[in-house]
Amino acid sequence: MKTLICIGECMVELAETGPGRYARGFAGDTFNAAWYARRALPDDWQVGYASCIGEDAISEEMTAFIEGEGISTRMLRRVPGRTVGLYMISLAEGERSFAYWRGQSAARLLADDADWLEGVLSQADHVHVSGITLAILAPDARARFLDALGAARRQGLGVSFDTNVRPRLWESEAATRAAMTAAAGVSDIVLPSFDEEEALFGDADPAATIARYAGAGARTVVVKNGPSPMLGWDGGDPVEIPVAPVEAVVDTTAAGDSFAGAFLAARLTGADLGQAMAQAATVAGRVIGAPGALVR
Ligand code: ADP
Repeated sequence: MKTLICIGECMVELAETGPGRYARGFAGDTFNAAWYARRALPDDWQVGYASCIGEDAISEEMTAFIEGEGISTRMLRRVPGRTVGLYMISLAEGERSFAYWRGQSAARLLADDADWLEGVLSQADHVHVSGITLAILAPDARARFLDALGAARRQGLGVSFDTNVRPRLWESEAATRAAMTAAAGVSDIVLPSFDEEEALFGDADPAATIARYAGAGARTVVVKNGPSPMLGWDGGDPVEIPVAPVEAVVDTTAAGDSFAGAFLAARLTGADLGQAMAQAATVAGRVIGAPGALVR
């Protein structure tokens, strides 16, 4: 049995279904990636989700949901006095707007218990984290988290990092750049999106993004670029893979997360770089053609 563990924050989602009526779900970038990886991986891979939750009823409901999706919750740590984060999707004339309540969420403490974190990392063959996993941590906790990842990687752990740049979650652009670069330094696989990298680092083109993350220490980099071709690199010549444009985009939520989950599943089971990119783009294309983060 092999184990993939995704680490980050899963939140309660309330999505407006009609005036003043909401449907409750659970989502979050690294959780979504775990969900897509679970669907794509064979049974000899276990997928787990590691985070912090509360001891309250909604935390238990989230745990039951995750477990029900075939993802192990053994690595959820319960923090007394805290609860899970929440976001609402409101509809105004067909346009979606998001509001978040996550400032005090339990997940912000996921690097506070060094023994727990070390235990999580020691149980994995591969861990997946994102820029949001890093952004929600206090700066000193972020540094401890990256140190723990680096130490585990030196012991043979595989690490992937979806940059998922969310400027509103970061204390400054300089801190964002520093964390992205440090994370690439402890990662085997880095999955950036070109528009975000261009805005944050001023990269001239996807090749520049690859060169920068390769220079930071990444071994594999795949630069996504919406419907434009993806550029991937894993030590040899860069590989360009086209994306079949989706004409009727319904909801781009989780495009990158589903890409990450499908890409990881493919790579962890032996696909070459180009095959894994193509499979991931096929899944992401299906996800943006349907509403919601988790498209069955
Ligand atoms: P992210 O969601 O991480 O910011 P992108 O917007 O680049 O990343 O999209 C991730 C992937 O989703 C792309 O690599 C591509 O495979 C797919 N995708 C995004 N937009 C489209 C589109 N309009 N048509 C087809 N595929 C798309």
